[in-house]
Parts: sequence; C-alpha cells; structure tokens
Amino acid sequence: MPTPAQTERITEDRTALERILSGPVQLLPLLPALAHALDDPSLLEPELRVDPALSLEPEGGWTDEQRARARELALDALEQLRDHGPAAGGARHTHPAMEWLTGTELGASYVPMLHEELGLEGQDLRAPDWTKADLAPDRVMRVAIIGAGMSGILAAHRLDQAGIDVVVLEKNPGVGGTWLENTYPGCRVDVSNHVYCYSFMQKADWPEYHSSQRVLLQYFDDCVDAWGIRELIRFETEVTAVVWDDQQLRWTLELDTGTGEETLQADAVISAVGQLNRPRYPDIEGRDSFEGVAFHSARWNHDVDFEGARVAVIGTGCSAMQLIPHLARSGAEVTIYQRTPNWLVPRPEYQQQLPDELLWLFDHVPHYANWFRLRLFWRSHEGLLPRLEVDPEWAQPIEHSVSESSAELRGLLELYLHAEFDDRPDLLEQVMPDYPVGAKRFVLDDGIWAETLKRDNVTLETTPIERITATGIHTVDGVDHPADVLVYGTGFQASSFLTPMKVVGRDGLDLHQSWGGDARAYLGIVSPGFPNFFYLYGPNTNIVINGSIIYFSECEVHYVTRYLRHLLEHGHRALDVKREVHDRYNEWIDEGNLRMAWGVSSVNSWYKTNGGRVAQNWPFSLIEYWEQTRELDPGDYHVID
Ligand code: NAP
Repeated sequence: MPTPAQTERITEDRTALERILSGPVQLLPLLPALAHALDDPSLLEPELRVDPALSLEPEGGWTDEQRARARELALDALEQLRDHGPAAGGARHTHPAMEWLTGTELGASYVPMLHEELGLEGQDLRAPDWTKADLAPDRVMRVAIIGAGMSGILAAHRLDQAGIDVVVLEKNPGVGGTWLENTYPGCRVDVSNHVYCYSFMQKADWPEYHSSQRVLLQYFDDCVDAWGIRELIRFETEVTAVVWDDQQLRWTLELDTGTGEETLQADAVISAVGQLNRPRYPDIEGRDSFEGVAFHSARWNHDVDFEGARVAVIGTGCSAMQLIPHLARSGAEVTIYQRTPNWLVPRPEYQQQLPDELLWLFDHVPHYANWFRLRLFWRSHEGLLPRLEVDPEWAQPIEHSVSESSAELRGLLELYLHAEFDDRPDLLEQVMPDYPVGAKRFVLDDGIWAETLKRDNVTLETTPIERITATGIHTVDGVDHPADVLVYGTGFQASSFLTPMKVVGRDGLDLHQSWGGDARAYLGIVSPGFPNFFYLYGPNTNIVINGSIIYFSECEVHYVTRYLRHLLEHGHRALDVKREVHDRYNEWIDEGNLRMAWGVSSVNSWYKTNGGRVAQNWPFSLIEYWEQTRELDPGDYHVID
C-alpha cells in the first residue's frame, strides 16, 4: 500500500502547474501541506482561514477572490518546491496549520488526536507502546475476537502487535464483514473514502471518492495481509454462545464450525460483530405469502434477471437509494415504497473517479493526502455537529428544525431538493422531509435520485403498504401492485446488539435479559457482570453525521489494549465495570442524545430501540470520545482475582 508521504519530483513548468491547480483539486488542504513542505507558515494567510462549518462547499465557503489568492500562493509554492525541494523543519507548523484548516482554536486534546489522524510520515501513533513480553512474559493471555470485519481485524492487529495470543472467529469464508456481505448493485461507501480508512493505513490513490464495495473489500483484505494476521482467523466458524466461568475466571466460547460443534477457552473476548449485520425484514402482514422472488439488500440474489421484471423495493434508506438507480437502468419496472423521505446532501463527486490533477498533487506534494484527509475528517463531523444541537429556546416546531443553525441547514437542503425536483411538483412533495435535518442519516446525492425518480419505468409510491400478497403489494388505498421480484431495503436489526449469540456472564447473568431490548454499555465497550468482555461498535458508538466509524473502532481498540495492559501490569485476572459508573455514564449519554436532532424528533429511524431510547448514537464530539477512551481509570472497575 502506498504511503502518502512518498512523493515524486516536480518537473512541470508554470503553465502546466497552473493547469493542475485549475482542476478539481482542493486548495484548502494544499496550503498547509505546502507550508509544511517549504517550512513557510506565511502561506497560511489569516484572510484565507475559514470556518468550514459555515458552508457545505468543499472549500469552506471561500469567495472567488480568496480562491484565486490561494491558487496564486500554491502556484508560487509549487515552483519553489520544484526548484529547491522540500525544506526541513516544517512539522513545527502542524498545530497552527490545523487551527487554520479547521478555523478553530484547538484545545489541548485535539492536537494529539488530530496528529494521530493526520498520520504524517506514515506514523502509527495509536500502536500499543508495550508488549506482553515486557510486562508479563510468563503469563498466558488468550483473546478471542468474534468477527473479522473492519473492527475485528483492527483489534487482532493491535493485540498481535502487543504480543498477545489472538484467535479471530469469523462466520463467513472471508474478511470484510459488511463489505463482504453487501454485494447489491451500486454498493459504495457513503463516507469520503479518504476518511473511511484506518488513520495508520491511509491510501491516497482510491479510484473514486466513494469507492465501491469491491474496492473496500480489497482494502481490508490487503490490510490483513500487510499486518500478517490471516493465520489468526478461523473462517466459517460461528460463535453461538460465550459463557463466563466464575471459578476459572475465563470465557468458554461455543462454536459452530459447519461440520460440528467445538468449545474454546479465552481470558478475554472482543465482540466485533457490528450493528448493521443481521437483516431486518419488515413486520408486514402476508410477507411469507409472496410467490415471486424476494430477498434483502444485504443478501442480494445475483441470479435474478431484472430485464422486463416488475420489481417492488420496500424502503428508501442508504442501501435502497444506492441500489434503486441500478435496478432502474436494468430494464426493470421499479416501484419504490417509501415510508419516510431522506434529506439529500449534494455531493457531485459521489460516483466520480479521482481526477488526474488531484492524483498528481497526491503524488508530488508531500503530505497533501494527509491534509486532504484531515480536512474531510473535520468537515464531516466536528464541523457539522453544532448544527444538529437542539436550542431549547428555538421557536420553530421540532418537525421543522431544532435551532437557527439547523433551520439554515434545512434551507440549504430544501433549495437543493427544489433545484432537483422543481419540474416535478408531484415528486417534490413526496421527497420533501418533514423532520429536522440530522434526525435520520443523510443520503449523499449527485443528481442520481431525481434522475431515477423521473424515469418512465420508475414509480415512487408513498401510500402506506397494507399487506404483501401472493402477487405483489396491496396498499391501504385498496390498490394491488403486481410484482415479480420483491427487494427488502429495510435495513438491519441494529438495536438487537450481539444477537443471536448467547452471552452469559457472572452468576449466570444473561446479557440479552439484562439489556431487556435496550442495550447499554460503559463507553460502548463494557457492561457490568461481563468481565473482560468488550464490544466494538457497541451501544451508543454510532455517528449520525457522515464521519467515519473507523475512528471509533480505533479509539475502542486503544481502550481495550489499555485494559489488557492494566491486567498484565497488575497481575489481575479480570475486571468488572462498576454498576454506578456504567449507570452514570448512560444517564449522561441519554441526556446528550436528547439534546440532538435525532433524539428529540419522533421520525422513524434505526437509531432507536422499540422503547424509543437512542441506543445506537454517540451524541458528542469525536474528541470527547477520544478523551474518554484514552486511558483506563482503575477506579471504574472491581478487580476479580
Ligand atoms: P435503513 O436506513 O434502516 O432503511 C430502511 C428503510 O426501510 C427505510 O426507508 C425504512 O423506512 C424502510 N422500512 C423499514 N421497515 C419498513 C416497513 N415495515 N414498511 C415500509 N418501509 C419500511 O437501512 P439501510 O438503508 O440498509 O441503511 C442502514 C445504515 O447502514 C445506514 O444508515 C448507514 O449507516 C449504513 N449504510 C452504509 C452504506 C455505505 O456506506 N455504503 C450503505 C448502506 C447503508 P423509515 O425510514 O420510515 O423507517
């Protein structure tokens, strides 16, 4: 995998450089990269410092004059880089450059966190700074990881780096989790790919801004090989139960290997099974009576020939909105059953390849790719989060907006829908959401949704479904809609964390019974009564805005390694989080979620349990989670020896 810091020499003349800078490149992150390369902080002119949260524009709302000035500065700097090469010492401008790029005075924690995300020189600042051999060479410590998706392989790599004995149990025949299982047409990452990658395995030369499922799967496969951890994974091995032994102080895992059952002992267990793993089929009457072909988006049936077929798609979430345009082009007659429309965020580059000019800059300007990624990292979460916070004094109804800033954002997104659908008022009415922005996940759009809905072979049906029949869908207005194929784009059982696995902790405590359908955890990682048992992407660790969930996995795995280090350093067998610590934390989380658009809105979303509690989302900033998971506080735990 290429390291973003490796660069080629510039040989182009001024005219060629001008042409490159006039292309679809991002100048905002280019200036910090050039300031670093040339050891010249004067490139970061105060007049060009912007507040990226002010605009959805890629360059944070720069005016034409500001952009022209930035281009002029970059052009001179590229010539200097060509003629004199990089200068030493530029790294000392990193902190001011981060503040310039984010438009924010960065507190003490942000600086190390953003350094980790920046990953200059291919550094891996989150690698464990200890090994078991240093701390407890004679101790046997075996950790079982359940799942070889994005977070499971990361955990395996980190523990392997620390010299811990690891086994990964994966039900599928390959790694990749969701990227292995979701093969529907059009499946691609809806977060910018430069952010949706590990901070220490950055990749500049993604083929597209939002790569396809195959490319993502290849990336995770490549990581496994680069880290040399493939032999730690037992494929086609499903964990059916995990039981704590109060005498032995260790876990027993019950495995289904396809050819039989087995057990395995481990001192600690990491569940890395994901939230969006088990398909959710809708609870609609008559579902089993359908006589055509029916399948879920995450279990795509590649044998179906859609040419001329009447296809009913239930749902318009992220998955459905990716696959429907492909169905529409396959010659099928498509009827889309929409219950709730989504806010569309304009992203013209959503399905575009990376342009040559951008790739050239990645290749020739040291660390440009790192700064490009950091800009996206900031813009896609921290910069946007305040816009989704509820202002208790705000006078508009919650269905409209939750603050002045939320109303402004709504205005921008309404304008986009108008621009896309003004020629079809019937569709505009159907696609206009009646809930605040951020109450559900946004969907990125490059114009494909309007183009698809306006096709002659596509119908958007918003009359509610009454039942599914042998021959199609019956809506509440009494109309029968015949269908040959039924596609469920109805999402996942996100709030049923860890199902169908049975987990039994201390004194026979059953995890699912203790949760009662309302999963909670301390830091999203541990629950009282389940010593040395960790979740990755556990309760309240999902983010609504399009930030990267990989960031959370990196923080979670860091915390788990600190926990294991504590066990080794102090000779403890196990820790069990204190109930009061867990409960206090969850009160704080619940209060936080009730201050966010997704917490106060009553719109349908997969963010809530059946009881209405937000069990999935993290309501605070990314830095807050980093701070919470930085170190293990021994006072949070009972020692079990
Ligand atoms: P989803 O967001 O939960 O969407 C499910 C859809 O099915 C919604 O439109 C929902 O309507 C509808 N639905 C559910 N039950 C229904 C019923 N009984 N009757 C009618 N409609 C029903 O699921 P998803 O699209 O699979 O996405 C889940 C999450 O996965 C996303 O939010 C995202 O985080 C992730 N994802 C990521 C990518 C990517 O990066 N490539 C792609 C896809 C998904 P309501 O809105 O009314 O509930």
